[in-house]
Amino acid sequence: LTVGVLKEALEGETRVALTPEITAKLQKLGVSVIMERGAGEGSQLLDEEYAGVTLGDAAEVLAGCELLFTVQPPAAAIVDKLKDGATVAGIMHGHNNPELVAALTRKNLTGFAMELIPRISRAQSMDVLSSQAAAAGYQSVLIAAMTLDKFFPMLTTAAGTIRPAQVLIIGAGVAGLQAIATAKRLGAVVKAYDVRSATKEQIQSLGAKFVETGVSADGEGGYARELTEEEKAQQQAALEKEISVSDVVISTAAIPGRPAPRIISAAAVAAMKPGAVIVDLAAETGGNCELTVAGETVVKHKVKIVGPTNLAAKLGRHASEMYARNLFNFISPAIKDGELNLDWDDEVFAKSALTRDGKITHEPTRAQLE
Ligand code: NAD
Repeated sequence: LTVGVLKEALEGETRVALTPEITAKLQKLGVSVIMERGAGEGSQLLDEEYAGVTLGDAAEVLAGCELLFTVQPPAAAIVDKLKDGATVAGIMHGHNNPELVAALTRKNLTGFAMELIPRISRAQSMDVLSSQAAAAGYQSVLIAAMTLDKFFPMLTTAAGTIRPAQVLIIGAGVAGLQAIATAKRLGAVVKAYDVRSATKEQIQSLGAKFVETGVSADGEGGYARELTEEEKAQQQAALEKEISVSDVVISTAAIPGRPAPRIISAAAVAAMKPGAVIVDLAAETGGNCELTVAGETVVKHKVKIVGPTNLAAKLGRHASEMYARNLFNFISPAIKDGELNLDWDDEVFAKSALTRDGKITHEPTRAQLE
């Protein structure tokens, strides 16, 4: 088996799907690796650190591998150049990438979408959503701290006492919990809210205060469900009071496969303190704040609203390390005597396969695209 890795093509993408650490682990399993020259440069992983790897140009990598690792969804033109029967593993977002899905089925390729790996205990070490969300949650607080014209911690100085920043985190999944922990480390007073009831204890265990809104909405598979109109109104009324007294609001609320829930209205922004900062981690899926513009920082009602995209790429080195480990933990159980031998009775492989044998095997994607 030869694993191939290209330099990621998306602008601003610093991550790489394979690190020297994981390359060595693959080699121990009898796997060869071929990489595009400079593939790791975005995260300061230089070609010479990848011992025993064949280096080539993109065409050579695609012609020489049976298993392609990617971070971002590959372009259809890339998939078209892979060998027949090859396998691709990376983030796919198939419903948003119909041309990629068409190329995978046209070529009869097995396409694993890392974001579809079931979130069961056994698969935690393979969970790219979690590892990359942790990077994003951490970054979101650093962005907020850099954007706010106040200290985060309380300071007692000769020039008087500085009060700590009031930070509100909306959505306490993986990114939100990491944001809480990071804001606490920086010394802010942190409050947080999520619709899932299990988060109250998690929020409190990180030393933050849980905001009671009276709305809880536990959905399937440990995720939140969408709120009814009544619940939304109740949630907004309770949250708007907290938003108005916060220096920083970091919002991370998401519902799998749905647009981001709208939680921060324009009126709520208008009621905030001048100079306050919102970092909207849901910018890419429509934003938790009505005024968010993805990829930009806008100032509305004297509030700075940051809509960052692809935040994990800002932490390229560590995000790559975690991502490559996730990939290895996913694929290594299927490597026997240096060859790929997939067990389709294993739900991890069965559920994360987007395409196989010329068909779309992920039902929601098939229903949407066909
Ligand atoms: P996510 O990115 O889909 O959503 C982020 C958060 O937004 C969630 O906590 C969600 O409850 C919250 N949210 C949704 N609508 C909201 C609203 N209207 N108001 C406030 N908050 C709202 O979620 P995630 O971070 O990827 O993970 C969520 C769940 O998955 C958690 O229960 C987590 O523990 C679980 N998980 C399990 C595993 C595993 O077992 N392998 C791994 C990672 C995460």
